[in-house]
Amino acid sequence: MKDEYLNVIKFPLLVSLSLAVIAAAFFGLVFGSYFKLGLSANETVIYSVLFSILTILVSSWVLNLISTHSKIRPRWMEIYSKWMLVHVYYNLASFLNFISFQKKQQLQESYLNFNNEIVLSAAKNIHHTNILLLLPHCLQNSKCKIRVTSDINDCASCGKCDIAELKALAKKLNVRAAVATGGSLARKIIKDTSPDVIVAVACHRDLIDGVRDAWRLPVFGVLNERPNGPCFETTVNLHTIEFAIRKFQ
Ligand code: SF4
Repeated sequence: MKDEYLNVIKFPLLVSLSLAVIAAAFFGLVFGSYFKLGLSANETVIYSVLFSILTILVSSWVLNLISTHSKIRPRWMEIYSKWMLVHVYYNLASFLNFISFQKKQQLQESYLNFNNEIVLSAAKNIHHTNILLLLPHCLQNSKCKIRVTSDINDCASCGKCDIAELKALAKKLNVRAAVATGGSLARKIIKDTSPDVIVAVACHRDLIDGVRDAWRLPVFGVLNERPNGPCFETTVNLHTIEFAIRKFQ
């Protein structure tokens, strides 16, 4: 139960904690200098610049927190907020996670949950018609001779892996489904299909890389399950995928 809770709050908690530490260090430095000798002209300039940076960091983080339950407008502010999330706050949280010897996977799950909340709140009350379900190749049964990376509809639906049910689900919900063998093919599929929303399935590392790489696009991430070890005959929770797709329709 504690782990499930941390899987959700760890990322926002670490970012908030890092900002609190940075703010405490900053004010400690300023007041230390001020009460010792007073602030020189140079120090005043330096501290003013640092204070502006701190203000930007804190206000942009508040904007990110708001975006998990309300759509941010105008569009440029939404892009700015997302840019900060991907390029600043994720790195800040990763650094704090690293120096405190915490599990990386838990932070990644929490980040994906946070990102999914933002994607869902931005898509509220919008009917998307071009949804892409992007799947990893490792979902396929290793003995299957069919190349589903060319076209998932080539799957013969024998039922030996989740591809059959995913193909049926994509058909039922009228969404495009594609299987990618790696980041390059995934990028090509996204470029060719120009989706409004992507529901992506992958392992922790690939999903984090994909979500951050395609940060301008709304990507809802679903982690696969690895009962046979990494990258081999993985599975995925079909209910989660159906839930996500229906949220965007
Ligand atoms: S369900 Fe489709 S992809 Fe999976 S093993 Fe059978 S034919 Fe191959």
